Amino acid sequence: MLFSQLAEYFEKLEQTSSRLALIDILSELFKEVKAEEIAKVVYLIQGRVAPFYEPIEIGMAERTVAASIAKAYGIDREEVLKEYGRVGDLGVVAYKLSSLRDASKKLVPLRGKQGSKNIDSGSGAGMTVERVFEVLKEIAQITGEGTVEKKQALLVDLLQKANPISAKHLVRIPLGTSRLGVGDPTILDAFALAKLGDRKKRKELEGAYNKTSDLGLIGQVLWKKGLEGVKKLDVTVGRPIRSQLAERLPDAKTILEKFGGEVHIQYKYDGFRVQIHKNGDQVRLFSRNLEETTAMMPEIIEGVRKQIKAKTAILDSEALAFNPQSEEFLPFQETTKRRRKYKVAEMAIELPLKAFVFDVMYLDGRSLIDLSLRDRMRRLKEVITGDEVLIAQPGEFTKSEERINELFNDAITKGLEGLVCKKPDSTYEAGARNFNWVKLKRHSAGELKDTIDCVILGYIFGRGKRAEFGAGSLLVGVYDESKDEFVTVSKIGTGLTDEEWREIHKRADKIKVDHKPARVNSILVPSVWIKPEIVIEVLADEITKSPVHTAGKTDSEPGYALRFPRLVKFREADKKPEDATTVKELLEMYKLQFKK
Ligand code: ATP
Repeated sequence: MLFSQLAEYFEKLEQTSSRLALIDILSELFKEVKAEEIAKVVYLIQGRVAPFYEPIEIGMAERTVAASIAKAYGIDREEVLKEYGRVGDLGVVAYKLSSLRDASKKLVPLRGKQGSKNIDSGSGAGMTVERVFEVLKEIAQITGEGTVEKKQALLVDLLQKANPISAKHLVRIPLGTSRLGVGDPTILDAFALAKLGDRKKRKELEGAYNKTSDLGLIGQVLWKKGLEGVKKLDVTVGRPIRSQLAERLPDAKTILEKFGGEVHIQYKYDGFRVQIHKNGDQVRLFSRNLEETTAMMPEIIEGVRKQIKAKTAILDSEALAFNPQSEEFLPFQETTKRRRKYKVAEMAIELPLKAFVFDVMYLDGRSLIDLSLRDRMRRLKEVITGDEVLIAQPGEFTKSEERINELFNDAITKGLEGLVCKKPDSTYEAGARNFNWVKLKRHSAGELKDTIDCVILGYIFGRGKRAEFGAGSLLVGVYDESKDEFVTVSKIGTGLTDEEWREIHKRADKIKVDHKPARVNSILVPSVWIKPEIVIEVLADEITKSPVHTAGKTDSEPGYALRFPRLVKFREADKKPEDATTVKELLEMYKLQFKK
C-alpha cells in the first residue's frame, strides 16, 4: 500500500466525529491491507513504529521538525515557526508548504521525466507504507553523535517525496501529535468487521489482546492464520500482560457473601504497579498501563536477578519507596519521586524501592494465568528467595469477618491504604476489572470512598479573574469501555490553583480540536474541545443522576454526575485516558453509596 493512500484514510479518520464511522473507515482501510503490512499500519495509526510497550520513541523536538520542513520546502525555519504560531500545528504547515510546492511545479515544468519522478513524488510514487515505516523506525533508533542532523536529513527526504496530505500526517508522527483519536477497542472492532464480518466479534479477539497487549501482532496473526491462530496467542515473557484490576465493595461482610464464604487477603500498598518479566539475566519492568519502566528501577532489576532462581518468570507487584534510615515505608508522594528519567542511580540510593510481589503469572516456560489463585500463591512462596528487595506477599485465606476487619485495621495502622480481597479459586483474568479482586479502602465521612479518574474533554471560558487563564471550568468525563467512548460526568472549577489553570490551559491548547472528537459523547458543548488525553483524579461528595451528562445514560434513563467535584491531582503519568474510571465502575460506586 502507498503511504499516500494510508494518509487519505488518516484524513478521513481525523475528520469524523462519530465513533461508528471510525470503525467503518478503519475496516475499509484494513480490507485493502496485506498481511505483511497490517502490523505496520496499526502501529502508524497509533502514531508509533512498535507496540506501545516497546520504549521506541521517534521523539523529535518541534524545532527540529520545523527545521526539516524548512529544508524540505526551501524556506527559512523562522518562516515555518511563524506559520506554526499562526496555525498551531506543524502538520498543517507542512501541508500548506507542500501544496504551494506542488502548485508551483505545475506552473514551471520540471527538467525531464527522470528528474520529476525523483523529486516530485507529489503523487507519493514509490513511498510505500513499508518504506515510510522503515525510515521512521530508523529515525527512532539513531543515537550518538550527530543524532539531530541525521534524523532531520531522513525526515527531509521523506517530506520531499510526500504529497500534501502525506506530509501533514507524516510530520505529526515524530512529534507525537497524531490526532487520529482511535482507541484500541476501536481497532479491534475494525479488525472484527474487516476480517470476521461483524464488529461484535471483537470479543473473540480480546483474549489475545489481554495476553499480548500487541495489536500489530494480533493483526498479523489474524491476517495470516485467521481467528484460530489469534486464539492460540499466549502469554510470553517480554510482552506485558494487561493488568487485572479491582472492583469495590463496602465491607468485609459483603465481600464474604459475594465470594461464597472464603476470601484471600493481601495488604493494599500504595506505590506503583510493576509487572516484572525475567528471561535469564534479562529483566524488564512494565507499569500499570504497560509502559516499560525498566530504566527507572535498577535496584529492582538487581533484586530480581538475585532473588529469583527460575529462568523465566512474570510477576505482579507494587513498588514502594523505603527509608533505609528509619526503615519505614513512605507515602505515595515520596514513591512518585522515583518516576523519573534522570539521576536514577542517586535516587535509587536515597529512596530505594521494595517490590511487594502479589502474584505470579508465568514460571519456567509455562503460563500460570489459568491456575487458581490458591495454586499461584503456593508457587509465589517458592519463587522468591529472601526479602531484600522483592518481598513475597502470599497473603492469607480466611472465612472470618473478624479476621478481615483485624487485617484491615492493621493495614491502616501501618499507613497502608487498606486491603485487596481476592476470590480464592479465580484465575488471573488479564485486563479484567471484576469482583474476583475487590479493594477495601478507608472510608472518610461525607465523601465517596474512592476518587474518580476523569479525562478532560474540553473547557468552558470563565469570567473575571479566571478569564485571564482562559478557562472557567473543565468539562470532564469517564470511559465507557463497551463503546470505547468518553462520556461526560461533570464540570469542574474547584480545587485548581492559578498555576494549575495556567498549566492546563497551556497543555489543552496543544491538543485542542475544532470539532467534537469522534469518541466523545456529550450533550454539553464546551467553548473548546480538546483531545481526550489528560487524566485527573477527582474527589466528589456524591454521585447523582443528571439529565445533562452522558455517563451511563440510556434512552430511558438519565446519566450520572458528580456532586461537589474537586481536583485532587493530575494522573496522566500512570494512566492513559482509557485507564480512567469506567462507566461500569461509576454505577457500582453509585450503588455503594446506599450501602453504609
Ligand atoms: P485501578 O488501578 O484499579 O484503576 P487506581 O489506580 O486508582 O485504580 P487503586 O484504586 O488504588 O488504584 O487500586 C488498585 C491498585 O492497587 C492496583 O492497580 C495495584 O497497583 C495496587 N495494589 C496494591 N497492593 C495490591 C495487591 N495486593 N493486589 C493487587 N493490587 C494491589
